[in-house]
Amino acid sequence: MSLNTQILIAAILGVAFGFLLNLFPQTSFFNASLYGLGIISSVFIGLLKMLLIPLIFSSIVVGVANLQAGGQLSRTWKITLACCVTTTTLALILGLACAHIFEVGKGVDVVMFQDAMNQHQTPDTLTPASFFTNFIQNTLINPFKAFAEGNVLAVVVFALFIGAALVKGGEKFRSVRKLSQQFFDIMMLMIGWVMKLAPLGIFALLAKLISTEDISVLSRLAEFAAVVTGTTIFHGAVVLPALLWIFGKMNPITFFKGTRAALITAFATSSSSATMPLSMKCAQENLGVRPQTAGFVIPLGTQLNMDGTALYEAAAALFIANLMGLDLSLGQQLVVCATAMIASLGAPGIPSAGMVTMIMVLQSVGLPAEAIAILLPIDRLLDTVRTVVNVQGDMMISVVVDRHTKDLEQPALQHKMHV
Ligand code: ASP
Repeated sequence: MSLNTQILIAAILGVAFGFLLNLFPQTSFFNASLYGLGIISSVFIGLLKMLLIPLIFSSIVVGVANLQAGGQLSRTWKITLACCVTTTTLALILGLACAHIFEVGKGVDVVMFQDAMNQHQTPDTLTPASFFTNFIQNTLINPFKAFAEGNVLAVVVFALFIGAALVKGGEKFRSVRKLSQQFFDIMMLMIGWVMKLAPLGIFALLAKLISTEDISVLSRLAEFAAVVTGTTIFHGAVVLPALLWIFGKMNPITFFKGTRAALITAFATSSSSATMPLSMKCAQENLGVRPQTAGFVIPLGTQLNMDGTALYEAAAALFIANLMGLDLSLGQQLVVCATAMIASLGAPGIPSAGMVTMIMVLQSVGLPAEAIAILLPIDRLLDTVRTVVNVQGDMMISVVVDRHTKDLEQPALQHKMHV
């Protein structure tokens, strides 16, 4: 049985087992199972996180060096950026449009959330300006600190720098380039090993999620949850595949078949960073994206391209405004879009990161930050689907970019990086 199929079966069994556990709450069977599931999921996530930083670093260094040597860096960079901005903008428009069409939050009584909001600590004001300053301060730091703290963005920036320096140095740094390439190959080999654990890890993660989340709170926010989830799925199942078809000339079915392992892992982990090693492997091995493109685009996309998060934040801001009985003007909605775009750029790919940056979006149009207390109870569940779309977007962009840079490749460089 292929790994893809094993992962799919494991996901279904994990959800089923989670519901089964819910039938025996607080029993010793429940507690013992939860303990076992916790151990298995920690091992799986731990191994992915262990590989993440060295993988991001080596793949970007090698990607920049080889793209530059092949004369494709500038076009790759431009197309990646254009794709990120286009898909995120479409996601934002979709998020706002659906929130308007379904008028989410209108007619819901805000009083029933008053307790939660009162108990919520008001965070410090987070304006786009202060967010941006923080963003820079957290990015240009000592690389060893960045490695140790797992600061993905700072590692990306440092790797881009080193990649550029290696290119500039040319022959002088040939051995370092070779070393980086070999280090990257070792990382990919190790990821292959970790993937063997994926079915078990995904089973454990999903069973744990279903058995520990309070699904009943969903019903209070059912309409909002359904609209956001439905719209996110629409973006992932219709908008992105259409773009892939037009600009990447790839059949969406081929895409979904090839990326199933990464998409299910994104759903189970709610973390695009933890899923990144798998996204890279799926893009290279199943979609035929050249390693230098995947190695450059996917780590960047993991940090910067989050369609699901942007869509969610725009829709959620409108939901809160409706709950409060406020009508946001067109100008205010544009501010929401711009802030949600910055927020999705800056949000790290970890569970519920979008909730933190959501504060900034709310405050940008004067909505109370405490209102996130309303969204928090269902966030872990909604995070699953938006992370899938975040990860899908990264892999999709790698296909489009690869197609549009292939013609630049110099023959001598072909097959230089095989994993
Ligand atoms: N969990 C998301 C991700 O890792 C980020 C978010 O909270 O929206 O992509």
